[in-house]
Amino acid sequence: MRSHLLNDTTAERYRRSVTEGIERVAAKLATTDRPFTGVTVDALAPRIERIDLDKPLHDTTAVLDELEDVYLRDAVYFHHPRYLAHLNCPVVIPAVLGEAVLSAVNSSLDTWDQSAGGTLIERKLVDWTNERIGFGPAADGVFTSGGSQSNLQALLLAREEAKPGRAGWEASASHAELRIFASEVSHFSVKKSAKLLGLSQDSVVSVPVGNDKRMQTVALARELERCKRDGLVPMAVVATAGTTDFGSIDPLPEIAELCEQFGAWMHVDAAYGCGLLASLKNRHRIDGIERADSVTVDYHKSFFQPVSSSAVLVRDAATLRHATYHAEYLNPRRMVQERIPNQVDKSLQTTRRFDALKLWMTLRVMGADGIGQLFDEVCELAEEGWQLLAADPRYDVVVEPSLSTLVFRYIPAAVTDPAEIDRANLYARKALFASGDAVVAGTKVGGRHFLKFTLLNPETTTDDISAVLDLIAGHAEQYLGESLDRAS
Ligand SMILES: *Cc1c(COP(=O)(O)O)cnc(C)c1O
Repeated sequence: MRSHLLNDTTAERYRRSVTEGIERVAAKLATTDRPFTGVTVDALAPRIERIDLDKPLHDTTAVLDELEDVYLRDAVYFHHPRYLAHLNCPVVIPAVLGEAVLSAVNSSLDTWDQSAGGTLIERKLVDWTNERIGFGPAADGVFTSGGSQSNLQALLLAREEAKPGRAGWEASASHAELRIFASEVSHFSVKKSAKLLGLSQDSVVSVPVGNDKRMQTVALARELERCKRDGLVPMAVVATAGTTDFGSIDPLPEIAELCEQFGAWMHVDAAYGCGLLASLKNRHRIDGIERADSVTVDYHKSFFQPVSSSAVLVRDAATLRHATYHAEYLNPRRMVQERIPNQVDKSLQTTRRFDALKLWMTLRVMGADGIGQLFDEVCELAEEGWQLLAADPRYDVVVEPSLSTLVFRYIPAAVTDPAEIDRANLYARKALFASGDAVVAGTKVGGRHFLKFTLLNPETTTDDISAVLDLIAGHAEQYLGESLDRAS
């Protein structure tokens, strides 16, 4: 069994084994003609169920054959140009290479004595990102598992900083008095974080958005006033720079002004919009981000990185102390004096992947401009898709894209019952998924069912968009036709 351990004597086996796996995936990528096979849970579950995990095959080739059957054949492939659903990007090759290296070396980024150079590489990428944001030299941050964790950590820091001393708030605030302000279309991880942080059930104040799906700052100002009048503490404002549903970017400079005025921590959730940090053309759309106290970035969304790759960045490194604990076995206090860089001092995680290597490889091979260009391309594609939708009488489209998302619904000329239109759109999404021809997402706007394209694949063309719109219309019409038959 020792022959399976990766070490000096098994290097050749490692090379053969991994190469064999890579060959399979490469062949798959080259021949995938649809983003999905349309397999159902009922069809797939028994294939996985019948495998006896206590009876190993002892043969890599046989296991890869089996993997084809239980996973590779029916996986949802994000690299396919007609995968248009969620915030999943096709990944760039240098990052996948980084992934292969980091899992084989298996550094753990918690302490210097488990990662050495890895620690410095992560720190350099944090500095690089902070420079792109426009933070000063006091900034810092740390890689995380994703935007949800980044938001949680940012709000933990905000909660601790809301205690005595923060502008205008003398009294020590109890958790029950703390309020977070976020737009009604902010990410649900804000509410989840508030719960984890022990805040009260009504701690997250939902600020309305305008027709453009951006936070209304007049409403934010009103809510902040009310908070102050009620003797409560405005702990943080979460500005979303790229909402998950619409890609809309909250007005960052105005929000920064209000945060300053009311002494609230400003967190920018740029999980989606962070790709603009690398853009030569559209960086200005997130101007004002440099005034944040903390920022969430998901490289695994708009930097074309494999999951996981995310970071939380802070304007003032000192605020990260709220996540610091010292353990004698791992990162004793004396190491701080000895200036040993232990990233665990800044992180909610302990053992932690060297995800930063993927971004490192990407920047070293392609450069930031290369990534920015890919993101600019999908933003432009969304603009073209918006024009297609706006000119198409079969569709109603919600808002002109700020990033790469389109939210729309099929509106049949002859049907007026809104519930029936909802059902037709829901049906079309499901039927499309079952066919595997394309994958689209859905959401609710004003209580009604809408469909959504999240465009993150530069290989997707306007022809793909047109073709998928025709497929959706076809499915919706089929539903309505059958619905008429049922009624008569
Ligand atoms: C995706 C997303 C998150 C959550 O990030 P994960 O990496 O999925 O945990 C948070 N905020 C926004 C705006 C997002 O789009």
